[in-house]
Amino acid sequence: MIRILPPEIVAQIAAGEVVGRPASVIKELVENSIDAGAREIRIEVTDGGRTLMRVADDGCGIPAAEVELAFQRHATSKLASADDLARIATLGFRGEALASIAAVSRVTCATRAAGEETGTLIRLEGGQVVSRRPIGRPPGTTVTVEDIFYNVPARRKFLRSSATERRHIDAWVTRYAMAYPGLRFALVHDGREVFRSPGSGRVRDVLVAVYGVEVGSALLEIPPEEGAPVRVEGFVSPPHLHRADRGEITLFVNGRWVQDARLTYAIIQAYHTLIPTGRYPLAVVMVSLPPEDVDVNVHPAKAEVRFRDGDGVFRAVQRAVRQAVTGEAGVPTMRTVLGPAPAAQVPEVRFPPGPAGERYRPTPMPLIAPPVSPGGLPPLRVVGQVAATYIIAEGPDGLYLIDQHAAHERVLYEQLMAQREKGIPVQMLLEPAAVDLPPEWAGLVEAHQETLRRLGLEVEPFGGNTFLVRALPAVLAATHPREVLMEVAQGLAEESGSAEGPGGGGAEEQGSGGAEEQGSGGAEEQGSGGAEEQGSGGAGERRGRGAEEIERAIIRRVCKRGAIKAGQVLSREEMEELLRALEECESPRTCPHGRPTMIHISTAQLAREFQR
Ligand code: ADP
Ligand code: MG
Repeated sequence: MIRILPPEIVAQIAAGEVVGRPASVIKELVENSIDAGAREIRIEVTDGGRTLMRVADDGCGIPAAEVELAFQRHATSKLASADDLARIATLGFRGEALASIAAVSRVTCATRAAGEETGTLIRLEGGQVVSRRPIGRPPGTTVTVEDIFYNVPARRKFLRSSATERRHIDAWVTRYAMAYPGLRFALVHDGREVFRSPGSGRVRDVLVAVYGVEVGSALLEIPPEEGAPVRVEGFVSPPHLHRADRGEITLFVNGRWVQDARLTYAIIQAYHTLIPTGRYPLAVVMVSLPPEDVDVNVHPAKAEVRFRDGDGVFRAVQRAVRQAVTGEAGVPTMRTVLGPAPAAQVPEVRFPPGPAGERYRPTPMPLIAPPVSPGGLPPLRVVGQVAATYIIAEGPDGLYLIDQHAAHERVLYEQLMAQREKGIPVQMLLEPAAVDLPPEWAGLVEAHQETLRRLGLEVEPFGGNTFLVRALPAVLAATHPREVLMEVAQGLAEESGSAEGPGGGGAEEQGSGGAEEQGSGGAEEQGSGGAEEQGSGGAGERRGRGAEEIERAIIRRVCKRGAIKAGQVLSREEMEELLRALEECESPRTCPHGRPTMIHISTAQLAREFQR
């Protein structure tokens, strides 16, 4: 029998889209406070939000005559016409949050509009007003949400542990604190203040509050670019600071936190070869563009957006991040003396300096200090070679120790990447070499024959799991074809293994060109559970990684094989040639796998060591 659902049930179903979990309540209430022009926002939570969530602000307040209205569905002060929808400048616009939250909890709202004498206290249960009276209070609004899902047992069951809900709440509060550094946020869990942002207007201050002094002050600021249509601001980690997942890549578009697989990928890609594979940068990137160039109305929880020019935004983000990173990617510096850091330096990141005055603490490994010299390499003069592995060179500011293998890998990598456009020089083999591969790799090699050919490796299937290698990239002419093919096959296996996310197989088709689609697909899958994925950028890599990533991986493998080995004695000419080539590189300081190619000991450090 078909029935029209009663209004309370309709409201609860609709609420599901907005209120996925306690953290989504916090998010919506904080957005309202920001939209209300608050300077200070205080968030109190008990029991991970199960029993109580309270957001208090000093914003414009709600006029007494409109308080009930604010809790009705599709009631908003932020949109007047359909035209407005095309250029939304507020965080809210659908007029659904308060109604949805009220439908699934007990809500108390105390508010006073800035221009009015008295305030209003209103209480709703399951969306119905149960009491209302005038109160005295300063201008602003305090919304208290108790017993979330008390009337929707099915959802209450799905609440995760308090710790998990807390984590989600923390994520939202810190995100908004970063995006609105001029506002003072305070977050209190179970009576204890766990986070406070100073409201100084400086994002860096908030980052210090979120990540601590060491990480916060080591982050690199994206250099401002005047007059660009898409403004990209924010902070990204220096290459020596990285994380195991994408969870700390935070993106805002016009002040709104968004999940955007492609932009996340743009950020990750900007670190390509600068950090080890499988590691991810930490980033807080704010994109601003005219509101009419971005559609924020594509996702129920407003967590995704669509750009009019997705490719342009992608490029702008990638360029900005790359500039921040390569502009500053300094040579790791050997610090054998643990004293106060020299004035111009960013505080030590991975190894905090010891107590001031403590000198000469022998250290088992070189300490990696943050960037000292921006930009390319200084001219280097070869002094000699140690252990048939490291080149010693002198630069304008001291001594450089260069890992010959890592450096050569970097040189080959950049050369091959550049040659890829025109065609990589190949060495035809006089006699094709037959190579047997393990069955699980044979299929991969066969499937990627075309890619391999473009990279200078000509192979053809020869029955069973055997392949004929006809040509090699010229840089590998001296390497046995079998070794090359095994290496490449292994690269393919790793890369295609990791390229297939849980959704499987999306990588190839999507490549990096799917500008049109971006945002729309994800919105579908996410539905009301959007909050689940939040922060991890889960769907991210599946879309961005593809043929390009596979090619790069193969090139990295080829470079590893083709590069001078450790233990190989080099002539002065060979060393000089290597250093010249390294100076030409765009990112000379790390190998394609992200390890350092060199260590720098400054003249000042030498002087200190010798107590001069
Ligand atoms: P939306 O934010 O999409 O407009 P909401 O349901 O979140 O919808 O809020 C409805 C309306 O209530 C808002 O448009 C605003 O006028 C008012 N409102 C909500 N919260 C606040 C607040 N903290 N301060 C002032 N006004 C508020
Ligand atoms: Mg709102």
